[in-house]
Amino acid sequence: MLKLFNTLSRKKEEFTPLGDVVGIYTCGPSVYQYAHIGNFRTFVFEDVLVRYLRFKGFRVKRVMNLTDIEDKAITTARKKGKTLQELTEYYARIFFEDMEELNLLPADVFPRATQHVPEIIEIIKKMMANGYAYRGKDGSVYYEVSKFNDWGELSHLKLKPGKKKIKRDEWGEDSAILSDFALWKSYELEDGDVFWETELGKGRPGWHIECSAMSTKHLGTRFDIHVGGVDNIYPHHETVIAQNFGAYGENPSKYWIHARHLMIDGRKMSKSAGNFFTLHDLLEKKYEPMAIKYLLFSKSYRRRLNFTLEGIKEAGEKLENIRGVIDRLKYANGIDDAEKISMKAMKKFQIAMDDNLDTGKALKAMEELSHAVSLIQPDKSSSENILKTFRTMDSILGLRFF
Ligand SMILES: [Zn+2]
Ligand SMILES: [Zn+2]
Repeated sequence: MLKLFNTLSRKKEEFTPLGDVVGIYTCGPSVYQYAHIGNFRTFVFEDVLVRYLRFKGFRVKRVMNLTDIEDKAITTARKKGKTLQELTEYYARIFFEDMEELNLLPADVFPRATQHVPEIIEIIKKMMANGYAYRGKDGSVYYEVSKFNDWGELSHLKLKPGKKKIKRDEWGEDSAILSDFALWKSYELEDGDVFWETELGKGRPGWHIECSAMSTKHLGTRFDIHVGGVDNIYPHHETVIAQNFGAYGENPSKYWIHARHLMIDGRKMSKSAGNFFTLHDLLEKKYEPMAIKYLLFSKSYRRRLNFTLEGIKEAGEKLENIRGVIDRLKYANGIDDAEKISMKAMKKFQIAMDDNLDTGKALKAMEELSHAVSLIQPDKSSSENILKTFRTMDSILGLRFF
């Protein structure tokens, strides 16, 4: 029985799917810059979630959006003298390469916000018709937060009145909490050539509406799991719930799952502190992708993880040990009957994964198996058995042992 921690209830809940196919939506990367290693913690976790659900016999449809339009993307494109599309195409390609380096399975759909403007207009019109959205004096369309009774249910933040209206995509946790926010942004000169002529006027979508429109289009108005990093909880996911409620009268996702932040050398990662890593940097410096992934797995996604270069090295050594053991097993012809070892290890592995996907404990079970095997001379049939167990574990973790 798989249990998942649902941010909505603040509890571990038994996972029961809504229908035949488990629908999963992830807020994917903003493709105007390299994704940082903290983003990848979320993506790596999500990959394991999908693989484990499949191992348990569920069918999964997974959607990961690419945010290819938002305030910062437009500013960055202008600064670099590129069109928005040139900029986002470049970073999308890098992102796909990085995913492959980490052996992350591709999503079934990678929708892009700029290709969903009709769906975005559609959902905004529904919210307006239902009385949850209105046109402001500046021509933008805003969500009327006071109309939505459950505002704040996901984030559990203390709500306080903020500015009347917010047009920008991001606003902090401490300011402007109870404010109406823009769904459709009327055109401003800074937007340059980034605009659409639509029924709602000339302008562009806000960031938050994009995920409501794309998840609804590809997974329906109600699906199983929405995954993101904890920094997505407020305001982004809170707005997604409000928007879907305004348009369709329900919270779009049954489970809301969030991965914790990474600490870098014991501190919060930030560009100004100089402890900011992108996966792209690390790979260029020849750090091994599987060692990076191993380190990201070393603690449950719900716990803080301290990411250090030293940690990547240590993870690499652990990987090497296991690889050595697996290699030896391929040619093993010893005398020890070791059938039970792998059964025990697999059981431990599954108990860890069933408990809200505790990859830290699952790795321990794999390491223990490897260690136990290194101390004996397994016979041929035990070796085959143990190899099969490693294969199964690897199909879930994706560490490229085979
Ligand atoms: Zn999300
Ligand atoms: Zn999103």
